[in-house]
Amino acid sequence: MGLKIYISSTFEDLKDYRRRVYEQLRTLRHDVIAMEDYVAADERPLDKCLRDVRDSDVYIGLFAWRYGYVPRAGNPQRRSVTELEYLEAKKHKKPCLIFLTDNRAPWPPDQMDSTTGDNDSGKKIAALRKALREKGLVSTFETPEALAIKVVTALYSWQSETSRAQSQLGHAAVEEALAPGVQAAARRTNPLMWVPGSRLRVRFLGADGAFAARILRLAQIWSAYANIFFVASEDKDAEVRVAFDKDGGSWSYEGTNALAVPPSEPTMNLGWLVPALPIDDVESVVLHEFGHVLGLAHEHNNPSGDIPWDRKEVLKLLGGPPNHWDQNTIDQYLYRTWETDRFPFAKPFDPLSIMSYFFPKEVTGGKQIFSTNTTLSSGDKEFISRLYPYATGG
Ligand SMILES: [Zn+2]
Repeated sequence: MGLKIYISSTFEDLKDYRRRVYEQLRTLRHDVIAMEDYVAADERPLDKCLRDVRDSDVYIGLFAWRYGYVPRAGNPQRRSVTELEYLEAKKHKKPCLIFLTDNRAPWPPDQMDSTTGDNDSGKKIAALRKALREKGLVSTFETPEALAIKVVTALYSWQSETSRAQSQLGHAAVEEALAPGVQAAARRTNPLMWVPGSRLRVRFLGADGAFAARILRLAQIWSAYANIFFVASEDKDAEVRVAFDKDGGSWSYEGTNALAVPPSEPTMNLGWLVPALPIDDVESVVLHEFGHVLGLAHEHNNPSGDIPWDRKEVLKLLGGPPNHWDQNTIDQYLYRTWETDRFPFAKPFDPLSIMSYFFPKEVTGGKQIFSTNTTLSSGDKEFISRLYPYATGG
């Protein structure tokens, strides 16, 4: 089911980054080839490397500030293994996902050719980075963790673009092979949750293509932790149907409840989202609403929360403009906690969760419990990976 992926990079300087990406891709059940599969040295058997590049489905290139090992034999242009691997991938028209360290990110000087004097004192790696950038298809990275997420999301968006192109050509079998996951279904116990490995089709109702692709990529951040796949789809009965009704606010059905919604109706509305919003705002809304898709509820309704609400202050805050909530609404949205058996195991209260609202300290007895979040908290990552585990040992 997985893809054969070749990770190319120089050895020592990118060790931690390569390892993190390697682990992440292995978790997603891809067949990954990286330098660690040869010998623990920068001097790799070039022929074998190039053959592995040719045999792979996808090439991933990681580049920092070292040009890398330059084999002596049969290499009149004195190119490094890393550059030769990239050229081989290009020559054989492999999809290339390229990642460069951010120009402004600090980097250990002893891992930079410009300081050590290697490879024309850094001129060769600088030229290669420039050439890669001019192709226009590069992402940048700073930390191993951020890189792993970028690699996964780039891979997903390449897969969904490819599978869409293929299905337009009528090659449904190819789509099946490229988009991982099983058909979406409810679990037998905890039927609000999806079967792990479910592939949820996402149909966008009237967003422009580029913006829709961006939203999907952000939603796929969840998939780095949860064994659930989101793929773009034009199917009428796609499990997730996203509308952009400007007056409709932002909401989503929770978990498999979406399956009961007639296909003519949306299961999610992203009323506040427009392409011009700052990226953090887009990310937080998308992750929050797709958290509902995964079956998550609002964190302030967590029965483990035991939140010391000051009910008078709450009424003052939410009863007035702009909300004008009456006591019933407040009871329902704020104080009603979810069933303790909602999840297969209790969810620890996590006020940093993306599923949490922000409330000022006045409503919680002067104690600041909630904070504003723009991305997944470590609690979110931890919980969702337990709720939708990837097969272990794979
Ligand atoms: Zn919500």
